[in-house]
Amino acid sequence: MQDANTQQPSSRPRQKKDIHNYSHKELVTLFQELGQPAFRAKQVEEWVWEKNATSFSQMSNLPKSLRAVLEENLTLGGTEELVKQISQDGSRKYLLRYPDGVSVECVGMPTRGKLAVCASSQAGCPMGCAFCATGASGFTRNLTAGEIYEQVMHVRDDFDTRVTSVVLMGQGEPFMNYDAVLSALRKLNSPEGAGIGARHLTVSTCGVIPMIKRFANEPEQFTLAVSLHSAVQRTRDMLMPGVKKYSLLHLYDVMGEYVDKTGRRPTYEYALIKGVNDTEEELASLCDFCRDNLAHVNLIQLNDVKGSKFQPSTEARAQEFVRRLANVGVEATIRNSRGSDIDAACGQLKQNVERMTH
Ligand code: SAH
Ligand code: SF4
Repeated sequence: MQDANTQQPSSRPRQKKDIHNYSHKELVTLFQELGQPAFRAKQVEEWVWEKNATSFSQMSNLPKSLRAVLEENLTLGGTEELVKQISQDGSRKYLLRYPDGVSVECVGMPTRGKLAVCASSQAGCPMGCAFCATGASGFTRNLTAGEIYEQVMHVRDDFDTRVTSVVLMGQGEPFMNYDAVLSALRKLNSPEGAGIGARHLTVSTCGVIPMIKRFANEPEQFTLAVSLHSAVQRTRDMLMPGVKKYSLLHLYDVMGEYVDKTGRRPTYEYALIKGVNDTEEELASLCDFCRDNLAHVNLIQLNDVKGSKFQPSTEARAQEFVRRLANVGVEATIRNSRGSDIDAACGQLKQNVERMTH
């Protein structure tokens, strides 16, 4: 994952606009200006969003002259697959590069006729969590809605099957790129796009409170996961310095409002770190945080991060967390890593995709 943000010099002579970033209205105007009938916008959108065309020449129901004009002035994103790793368990990890040289990871995980995709929302991440490889590598830039969407379609086309769920648990903090993320989710949800049910589209946030409030007011039934990792303020401040300004007390209140407003059960992610957030005090605080709330706790086995001082907790300790949470009426699950034969840095993605989708 550390290599994912390496900037490469652009090989393109000039920056053309990516057609994925045109709204329907903008496309209608564009075709009007080109003297084309109104239905062209719909035809082109079908190629872009449903068929994931990679070149304008594929758009066989458009006049050749129009395809040439589009080719001359626009791009279809132009994502390039730099690396693909295939695990023995069938999951595939990709490193994709955008035309400006920025690259991100995404993962496809097939299980029992389903295909879950884990996508990135930013190249790098500005939040700097102490246990996270992406956090350690810094922030490069936000992704556009089209770039987020394209990751999912890339995986779909590689597996040649429908994507049944998406989690934004790759690189980046989705709520630091809210508008692009929402717009990508809407396209993924739309029958004219990938047609994935809103409940099967999950955003994972480190807890950017103003955006949790905003998310609660969105009309769609998208799913929310919050990376908690500690219910003790000083521990959380140390592990997750990027959200220090949002206290746990405030997070607790806002999540209560989220549940009241949406009626949906949020997931709390908790990567167990030996001697740091798996002590008695930590367990008691976690139980207090969750006990009277609608909550599901995902106990994550900490993935190794190069140069990190943190060690994963023991299996027995994880079981104890499950038992004690159950005692206060909170459901918790543990999932162990799969696919250790492919790049271990990706374990973070894979493990979380599994947890959110099975
Ligand atoms: N920025 C968002 C989403 C991307 S991270 C967030 O933090 O929620 C996806 C998940 O992987 C988060 O729950 C994150 O805390 C977790 N994670 C990061 N580093 C990890 C590691 N080394 N081991 C296990 N989980 C990790
Ligand atoms: Fe960013 Fe999430 Fe990693 Fe924290 S855990 S640094 S918010 S990607």
